[in-house]
Amino acid sequence: MARIVQKYGGTSVGDVERIKKVAERIKASRDEGNELVVVVSARAGVTNELIARAKALCAEPSDRELDQLLAIGEQETIALTAMALHGVGVDAVSYTGAQAGIFTDAVHTKAKIKTINAQPLEKDLKAGRVVIVAGFQGINDDGQITTLGRGGSDLTAIALAAAVKADKCEIYTDVDGVYTADPRVVKNARKLNEISYDEMLELASSGSKVMQSRSVEFAKKYGVVFEVRSSFNHNPGTTVKEEVEYMEKVVVRGVAVDKDQAKVIVSNILDKPGSAAKVFRALADANVVVDMIVQNVGRHGIANLTFTVPQTDTGKAQKALVPVLDEVGGGQVAIHEHIAKLSVVGVGMKTHSGVAASLFQALANANINIELISTSEIKISVVIDQDRAEEAARVAHAAFSLDQA
Ligand code: ADP
Ligand code: ASP
Ligand code: MG
Repeated sequence: MARIVQKYGGTSVGDVERIKKVAERIKASRDEGNELVVVVSARAGVTNELIARAKALCAEPSDRELDQLLAIGEQETIALTAMALHGVGVDAVSYTGAQAGIFTDAVHTKAKIKTINAQPLEKDLKAGRVVIVAGFQGINDDGQITTLGRGGSDLTAIALAAAVKADKCEIYTDVDGVYTADPRVVKNARKLNEISYDEMLELASSGSKVMQSRSVEFAKKYGVVFEVRSSFNHNPGTTVKEEVEYMEKVVVRGVAVDKDQAKVIVSNILDKPGSAAKVFRALADANVVVDMIVQNVGRHGIANLTFTVPQTDTGKAQKALVPVLDEVGGGQVAIHEHIAKLSVVGVGMKTHSGVAASLFQALANANINIELISTSEIKISVVIDQDRAEEAARVAHAAFSLDQA
């Protein structure tokens, strides 16, 4: 007997038939004697639909009301999944995030989990019930419903696995595991048997939406080993953990594309101490997460700052920046949404040279222009035209022969 946390994503619970299939899978594991905590997402598309409805009524919906609204997506699937289990004779009970004791901070739409009180859930597990928990949501100290950022059901699953000291955490999705690139974009992408937390984290934060990046961060911090696998077949998936065999032998592990970023240019600001601090303080106070940052060499005391922010935050960024422009000597804000960020990731980059040169050459050969560059020890990212994003992913994948083991 093992204690297992399973998470089923939106496609896996996409309709009544699929929820029945999930219930059969849960029943099979229960019949083997396992204790199960099951986290489910909203049906595929529901969260997007709810956001679209909110925006049809109000251009900038309040974050609190958005959370009230978005939480219903997962509330539907927990109840349906519990009912499907009852239908096949399995004792099960559904919990919202709040009922499951998932306490978060107060930052609506991207709340962080602070603590989990797993006692109520433990009682049901002891009584032999399967516990179904709504992903993506929690409650803050004021009793307000919060959500954990897009893709946040992954985080619910990983955090619960840590809280209930699960023996196993299984993330069921619509692909067989983690690939060297999105298999829907790069046809010859290869499934990885294992990947390290650090590489998975960089891929996730670079746009590989197979795992929410914050969930990987959490898993690394608490040492939660998890497996990403398909809910549609029984193929072995990808294990994500601290140390993996290949480590530094492989230079580039995978390629990721993010089309949900926007490029912000703050131009004609004073090139003096404090300008950048004011700009980025204003963004931080508005809870806007900034990624790549480039400041050009100032001329005649005037400089430009260019950086990327999530597309969902461009309204907030604009609002936050306008009041500081006067303080940094005038200047203008321009936002470009038609961009994509392409990243190549690999722990082996730490000890190999020439990775950036190979990537830039491959993009140049395909006549793809690079607008911004940023590098870390294990990642190189470039901003390019969004229309070339998929092609760039294939070009980078081929440049590093990622289809070959
Ligand atoms: P879920 O609803 O189960 O959480 P997501 O849609 O969030 O599923 O994530 C799964 C999707 O992630 C896949 O369908 C795939 O297209 C995409 N994806 C992007 N990059 C990768 C990658 N490197 N490996 C596997 N899947 C990837
Ligand atoms: N339903 C939420 C989303 O679409 C959370 C998740 O699916 O993980 O972002
Ligand atoms: Mg997901």
